[in-house]
Amino acid sequence: MTDVLGRMNSMLFDTHMHVNVEQFKDDKAEVIQRAFDAGVKYMVVVGFDRETIPLAIEIAEQYETIYAAVGWHPVDAIDMTDGDLEWIEELSSHPKVDAIGEMGLDYHWDKSPKNIQDEVFRKQIRLAKKVNMPIIIHNREATEDIINILQEEAAHAVGGIMHCYNDDVRYVQDCLDMNFYISLGGTVTFKNAPLPKEVAVQVPLDRLLVETDSPFLAPHPNRGKRNEPAYVTLVAKKVAELREISMEELSKKTTENAFRLFRL
Ligand SMILES: [Zn+2]
Repeated sequence: MTDVLGRMNSMLFDTHMHVNVEQFKDDKAEVIQRAFDAGVKYMVVVGFDRETIPLAIEIAEQYETIYAAVGWHPVDAIDMTDGDLEWIEELSSHPKVDAIGEMGLDYHWDKSPKNIQDEVFRKQIRLAKKVNMPIIIHNREATEDIINILQEEAAHAVGGIMHCYNDDVRYVQDCLDMNFYISLGGTVTFKNAPLPKEVAVQVPLDRLLVETDSPFLAPHPNRGKRNEPAYVTLVAKKVAELREISMEELSKKTTENAFRLFRL
């Protein structure tokens, strides 16, 4: 692929990042520029609560190739009001909003009881179906419940992304059957993490995405530091190496996949 300067370039798409959080309040513009300089031309900035959603929209309005997703995080499910849900619905018609999420279940933290998480998750799936937009799924220690809910709510009608997929390869087919894409992040580069490496090889190339989840989960060799969208190059390199394909091919395919999914 060729960029605006005519250079052959692998244009990557970081499909999930949060430059809209506190950790980037002082150097957002520099962080975004570093991503562009590294060949990460496209990004989705994900808003997940009352503070991060407006900022996601604001950033997407500033940059032509950055899009926003809006949703409510399962950890904070207990805080979501009907007004918040209506607000998310209104924002879904914003021209730079391309997905609803992140949403899902998180059984690692116990701030929000499981039944509330379940309810808030289902409400957001129904909203996404109503406005006909793909959904972004956050899953922590809750894979089987997530798959059941997606099936019960017929989420295949909109499809979406299993964000930062970090689970057993045996669940991948269920996700693919429901029109979901599998997005890999920094964990695929971790030395002690066999599962995402297996997933990286098994997922059909036309259903694979890459992401950073910045500022979390920085890939090797930056593990433990603040993550940033430029580092999606490290994720992509690792996936290309595992699949034994070129970085160019991996970049081209995953970016095409993101365009198809987000209907850009
Ligand atoms: Zn996230």
